[in-house]
Amino acid sequence: MGVNPVNFGVPPILRVRDLRKAYGQILAVNGVSFTVDAGTIFSLLGPNGAGKTTTVEILEGLRLPDAGEIELFGEEVQRVGRTQKARIGVVLQDGAFEPLLRVHEVLNLFRSFFQKGQDPAALLELVGLADKARALVKTLSGGQKQRLALAIALLNDPELLFLDEPTAGLDPQARRHIWGILESLRAQGKTIFLTTHYMEEAEALSDWVCIMDHGKIIAEGTPRELVSRFGPATFVEFETPTAISPLSTCFAGRLRQDGERMSLEVEDLGRDLSALLSWAAEQNVPLRNLVIRQPNLEDVFLSLTGRRLRD
Ligand code: ATP
Repeated sequence: MGVNPVNFGVPPILRVRDLRKAYGQILAVNGVSFTVDAGTIFSLLGPNGAGKTTTVEILEGLRLPDAGEIELFGEEVQRVGRTQKARIGVVLQDGAFEPLLRVHEVLNLFRSFFQKGQDPAALLELVGLADKARALVKTLSGGQKQRLALAIALLNDPELLFLDEPTAGLDPQARRHIWGILESLRAQGKTIFLTTHYMEEAEALSDWVCIMDHGKIIAEGTPRELVSRFGPATFVEFETPTAISPLSTCFAGRLRQDGERMSLEVEDLGRDLSALLSWAAEQNVPLRNLVIRQPNLEDVFLSLTGRRLRD
């Protein structure tokens, strides 16, 4: 496993060693270890069922692990209890709020649970919901509800914020809005622990990514490092109505079909691209919507597991 070097020399805010949790025969979390540095965005990236929610629920104090060590805020803890919970914020995967309350009422209600904390009005400003303060919760869009959940998680002014799939099911604009808020929270010095199955999200936001599959961490690093360590060189992608079997022979093992779209993994872009173009010209085969793209975390996951993140 790599060493998270983002804050080298500063003690980590969270360290997990050999964490385990089974549900009957299912080893949901099967010996997971990682470190989260203060002031960073850390992502647990993996497909549905990888064990991300179970991991994060243990760290939020909602579940007990079967085994493993957790060091939180510099202290070894048997279980995440009240003292630690006072310093963390949580956005659950399926958090729902009373639909017939107004936004400011929900915030004030949750604010009343804490002796000290942030001003609800300032938090509504931060998450871009100031103009919705008097709106009924049931009238909010999915993205607005998630931003309300984020504001509520920030009420106790936590040092460490856990978000379980914070943008699942949201459209790209709503997703980007949340990304912007998370980046501004990091700029304020907060530490953000994210679970996601969206590789774009992990790639765009994270200082450090742990890729999780079948209860284990299968790779970790900065997004850039992971892509350069496990990703293939470059992809040329195109669509063609013609059978590509002769081309498959020519680029044995490097051509992949995904529906109508062909994806060719190239090591020497100049050489392979000109071979492809010459073949297409000779055979009079149209190559539509041709793009050249760099590998991403989805390709890393595919190269490690043979599966796509969203299979
Ligand atoms: P998702 O994003 O779909 O929630 P995940 O990566 O968060 O996926 P978990 O929810 O932690 O994964 O689930 C890990 C495994 O444990 C899955 O096989 C799941 O079916 C199983 N599992 C999760 N919760 C329970 C439970 N309460 N009882 C039994 N099995 C469970």
